Amino acid sequence: NSPGNVKVVVRVRTLLPRELEKEAPCLVEMNPVTQSTILYAPATTDQNARRKLEKKIFTFDNSFWSVDPEDEHYADQDDVYNCLGEEFLDHNFEGYHTCIFAYGQTGSGKSYSMMGTADKPGLIPRTCEDLFQRIESNDCPNISYSVRVSYFEVYNEHVRDLLVPKKDTPYYLKIRESPTEGPYIKDLTEVPVKNLQEVLKYMRQGDTSRSVASTKMNDVSSRSHAVFTLVLKQIYHDMERDETTERLARIRLVDLAGSERAKSTEATGQRLREGSNINKSLTTLGRVIAALAESGNNSRRKDVVPYRDSVLTWLLKDSLGGNSKTAMIACISPTDYDETLSTLRYADQAKNIKLRAVINQDQRS
Ligand code: ADP
Ligand code: MG
Repeated sequence: NSPGNVKVVVRVRTLLPRELEKEAPCLVEMNPVTQSTILYAPATTDQNARRKLEKKIFTFDNSFWSVDPEDEHYADQDDVYNCLGEEFLDHNFEGYHTCIFAYGQTGSGKSYSMMGTADKPGLIPRTCEDLFQRIESNDCPNISYSVRVSYFEVYNEHVRDLLVPKKDTPYYLKIRESPTEGPYIKDLTEVPVKNLQEVLKYMRQGDTSRSVASTKMNDVSSRSHAVFTLVLKQIYHDMERDETTERLARIRLVDLAGSERAKSTEATGQRLREGSNINKSLTTLGRVIAALAESGNNSRRKDVVPYRDSVLTWLLKDSLGGNSKTAMIACISPTDYDETLSTLRYADQAKNIKLRAVINQDQRS
């Protein structure tokens, strides 16, 4: 994949206890040399149907095999960070905006990959750790750094600030548009953080705010999109020339709603009414990706991309098709043929998206 394109990786998770119990077969294979992912049709008694389904092969920038920890090719949280997170943080220090988003059905490993667990931290806590390690190990006296964090979720086409605990009364933030910065969230909490402990405190606070809601509102986490953002500002003062250079990089880490939701708009009755708003951001994301993938280098067609049709795509406009280096982690279950095929096709399409990342730098003397 060319460096100007969306980087697409796929990760297949381990079998869960319920799948092991059912002795569900693993339908996914990965080739560590070619980085291709192979999906086999599930065994069926109808041999003709099976022949029609056969096997599907996809190639991505990386294929992470996280099925069997005993396997020599097993990709753990470290491997995912080293292959993707670290490179993206390098870009941030160069002054580029980045975005990594996890896509996949509920239970496919999105939150595990992005947030992880206490003893197996994912991309978000690892990025925070590496970020402050780099800042603290800097010994050049002419550079100063500042970091700010924000954390919000998009649920039912509403934006909720996850850093403001608002117990029972749901409240929502409004979206505004600035002529220079594009769409932004009015009054979103953006706190300065000085060290790793502080940023992790806010990360956990926001995560709790998300999961508290989920027990009350029937699994909000599978229906909401969580966007964790760090803003890194670097100020460099060149003594000889008496010149100050400022670089600003936005680091966006997104845990999307379960992709199976996108299809329930095709359902009828209750599901349809309930789903129309909940799924809007996800179905629009699909249309935005399709439009961007199709337009490719043809910038004349960029104006037909329907960013404005949903809250999520409007807020992520730059990350999806503009000034950003962006990666998608397609998370898949090893046992679900239909959902996995749909995720792999989606990911395959995202590979064609071209971005226009520039170094965000200001110079004054
Ligand atoms: P999602 O956020 O996509 O709904 P989760 O991240 O919550 O899915 O993953 C579902 C379950 O699978 C969780 O219990 C999680 O700990 C486990 N899991 C996901 N990916 C892995 C992995 N790579 N290795 C081990 N366990 C995993
Ligand atoms: Mg999740």
